[in-house]
Amino acid sequence: MGLHRYYVPQALSPGKIFLPPEEAHHALRVRRESVGDRCVLFDGLGNEAPAIIVSTTKRDCEIEIESIRFAPRDLPGSFTLGVSLPKGDRLRAVVEKAVELGVHELVPLLTERSVKIPTDNSIEKLQRFVIEACKQCERNRLMEIKPPIDFDTWLGRAAENAAEKNALTEPSFRIIAHPDLAEHRTTMKQFLVSNAAIQPHHGFAAIGPEGGFTDDEVLKAVNSKWKVIDLGSRILRVETAVASLATIAAVLFDDKQNTFPPIIIAGKPQ
Ligand code: SAH
Repeated sequence: MGLHRYYVPQALSPGKIFLPPEEAHHALRVRRESVGDRCVLFDGLGNEAPAIIVSTTKRDCEIEIESIRFAPRDLPGSFTLGVSLPKGDRLRAVVEKAVELGVHELVPLLTERSVKIPTDNSIEKLQRFVIEACKQCERNRLMEIKPPIDFDTWLGRAAENAAEKNALTEPSFRIIAHPDLAEHRTTMKQFLVSNAAIQPHHGFAAIGPEGGFTDDEVLKAVNSKWKVIDLGSRILRVETAVASLATIAAVLFDDKQNTFPPIIIAGKPQ
């Protein structure tokens, strides 16, 4: 706990390893690490390794791994969040909240009122935010950023996925946040109470742009068996709605730290 964490984009294996350039820069110039300092490496695939810095040059930082354990710390199950992304700093907040709350996949949605189509450049920036958030919250499996997709197409994909999984008798949930259409809406409490007994293996949730989903878009989702969720009496910013929906998912998945104890796959236990 409390050790600096560095990301290496390859499966961790016993032995020595050089940090990639960006991480080495961070370790040497920002954190001012030196030989003998301890840190934790993570590979984004769910593994982390307590490690010690064994040599440094101006640019390189070589680290020896002491042991490796599998501790992904994302939600147990699979949770996909579709969001019509906001701009600027708030984009970072969306990624941070989603990573911290264990979301597996973030899908940028193109809806009727979306203001901005994410470019390759902004997707790359999102990936950088994912790594930063994983460092901070001790998550070891990266959240995946999917290519932007048209809302209607995505509804179709979610339906296919649910049909496939249901064939294996795996329960799922699909929720869309919308403050209007009172006749279709359910409150958070109603939804959680009526789903208290399910043990979902996967779930989908959708959040609209600042201008909201159109009623037409929401009705399409309703026709594809999505539940419309009311997140309370106030209108939330997109990043706040992300946190609320991801928390609902965490309750349904019954997220708790000790569900999957760390497995030591090399070296001595710490
Ligand atoms: N003016 C828009 C509000 C958009 S807020 C409207 O009236 O629809 C951005 C997104 O956050 C919404 O599309 C919705 O998905 C979610 N959201 C914000 N506040 C909400 C609430 N109280 N209930 C349900 N969803 C909400």
